[in-house]
Amino acid sequence: METQENELCIVRDLMNRDDDEPPPKPVQSISFRHLHSEATALRSEKEKTVISERSKAFMDSFYPGLPEKEWNNWHWQIKNSVRTTDQLDRFIHLTENEISVVGKKSHTLPIRITPYYMSLIHENDPDHALRKAFIPVFEELVTGAGETLDPLSEEHHSPAPNIVHRYPDRVLFLATGFCSAYCRYCTRTHMVAKEKCHVGFKAWEAGLRYIETHHEVRDVIVSGGDPLTMPDFHIDYLLSRLRKIPHVEIIRIGSKVPVVLPQRITKSLVNILKKYHPLFMSIHFTHPDELTPEVKEACERLANAGIPLGSQTVLLKGINDNVEVMKKLMHGLLQNRVRPYYLYQCDPIPGSSHFRTPISKGLEIIKGLRGHTSGYAVPQFVIDAPGGGGKIPLLPEYFLGHEDGYAKLMNYEGRVFLYPDDVG
Ligand code: SF4
Repeated sequence: METQENELCIVRDLMNRDDDEPPPKPVQSISFRHLHSEATALRSEKEKTVISERSKAFMDSFYPGLPEKEWNNWHWQIKNSVRTTDQLDRFIHLTENEISVVGKKSHTLPIRITPYYMSLIHENDPDHALRKAFIPVFEELVTGAGETLDPLSEEHHSPAPNIVHRYPDRVLFLATGFCSAYCRYCTRTHMVAKEKCHVGFKAWEAGLRYIETHHEVRDVIVSGGDPLTMPDFHIDYLLSRLRKIPHVEIIRIGSKVPVVLPQRITKSLVNILKKYHPLFMSIHFTHPDELTPEVKEACERLANAGIPLGSQTVLLKGINDNVEVMKKLMHGLLQNRVRPYYLYQCDPIPGSSHFRTPISKGLEIIKGLRGHTSGYAVPQFVIDAPGGGGKIPLLPEYFLGHEDGYAKLMNYEGRVFLYPDDVG
C-alpha cells in the first residue's frame, strides 16, 4: 500500500503538469520558452493514429461512446490506467491466484496497465503471455534463494543522484521512477514507483553536473522508470542539456512506452527527439502479441525520424521461452523496423522464480535462431551479472577447440568443419 501511495505522488506530479502549462522556473540559463513554444506548435499538427480492431471492440464494450480522440490521447490513457483489483475485475475474470496477491504488504510493485494494453490481454486465459507479464500472482510474494531487490547493485554504482556508472565510458541516467505499465519482473523494482528517484529539472542537476565533469562519458542511456512518460518539455530539456555536453557522443533512450502506450509517440515528441541525433532507442518488447497496428505506427514514426531502433526482451518462463514464439517476435520486430538487440536472462528480483528459466533455455533459443533465420533476427543473449558485473554474453558452443593446427567449428546443423588456424 505504501508503494501505491508513493506511486500516486509521482503520478499526481505528472498529471498536474500538462504540455500546455508553462514549465517550472529554469535552473540554468537555457531558454525554456523557446523549447516549449516549439513543442506546442509542432503538436498542433494533425495526428493520424490507428486503432486496431481488437482495441476498438474493447472500447465499444468498456468505454461506449468514448471519442477515438480521447482513446488516442496518451494523457487519457495514463489517467484511466487500471490500478486496482476491482478495476481489473471489470475487464478480466481473475483467478484465485491472481486475487490472492493484491493488497499484500510484500507486494513489490503496484499494478498499472494502460487501457490500450489491457485491450490486448485475454480476459479468460490466465496463461496468456501478456496477462502473465502484468497481472500479479501469488508466486510474486515468495522470495527465492539468491533473489535481491537490487540484483545489479545499481545503488552501489550510483556516484550521483539519478546516475548509475558501471562501465568506463557510459552512464545510465534514471530520469523518472514512473512507468505507464509495471512489468511484474522489473529489474528496477528497487526504484520504480518509489519516491527514491529524483525527478525534474532541479533534481536532475547533480546528475547532469556529474556527466559534465566526467569527460570519459561518451554515451548516456536515459532510462527509468520510463523517460517517455515525461511531458515533452521535460524530455526536451533533458536531451538539450545532454546534447550540450561536448564529450557526450551518443544518447540512448530505453523505453517500453511504444509498446504499452503507443499513443505517446506523437509528432511533437518525435520532432523533439530528432533534434538530438545521434539518438538511439532501445524498446522493451516481450511477445509477438504486442506487435499491433498501433505499435507499428509508433515505430514507423520513430524510424522515419532517423532514430535507430533496437529491442530488449527479457526471457520469461511460460511467456516467450520457446523458439517459435521468439522467432515470431524477432521477425515481427524487423518488419516493424526494430533490430533485435538483447535477449536478457531474467534478473533475480524477489518473487521472480516463476519467471526465470534455466540458462540452457536461452542457449537453446539462440541455437534455434542462429542459422535458421536472418542474422539480423538473432539478438545477443546476455546475463546482467548479479552484483554489478555488467552484461555477460552467452553463446552456444560453436567453437570445439583445436586439432593439428585446425580449429574445429560446429555449424547450425550440428556439422563439424575445420578451419586452418596455424598462422601468426
Ligand atoms: S517498463 Fe521497464 S522500468 Fe518500467 S516496469 Fe517495465 S521493466 Fe520496469
